[in-house]
Amino acid sequence: MKRRRRLPRYLRESTAAEPPGPVPVRIPADTSQQAPHTSWGGVPLHYEDKEFICVDCGKTEIWTAQQQKWWYETAKGYILSTAIRCNDCRQKLRDSHGGTPRRSHQERRDSGR
Ligand SMILES: [Zn+2]
Repeated sequence: MKRRRRLPRYLRESTAAEPPGPVPVRIPADTSQQAPHTSWGGVPLHYEDKEFICVDCGKTEIWTAQQQKWWYETAKGYILSTAIRCNDCRQKLRDSHGGTPRRSHQERRDSGR
């Protein structure tokens, strides 16, 4: 056991040092990088970790702020779209497409039948 005669330092100086409990990750959004959207007023200015339930397996997953930033700003995802599949299921989906992750747009030509 450690020495516990006095109040440990972290108890005496706690308030300013660290807030209690986990802090939700929150990163600022770069709205100029987000995909173009019409007159919808609720553009996210911050991204925060959020829970969602996978549509395939029903597992609860966290869509992290980082992933959201990537999705909206780098992948130019539609602004109202959110994550619906967990990592595992997305991986499975990718595998089932035969490992051609980025070509879906170019190979749509013959879909008119
Ligand atoms: Zn899943």
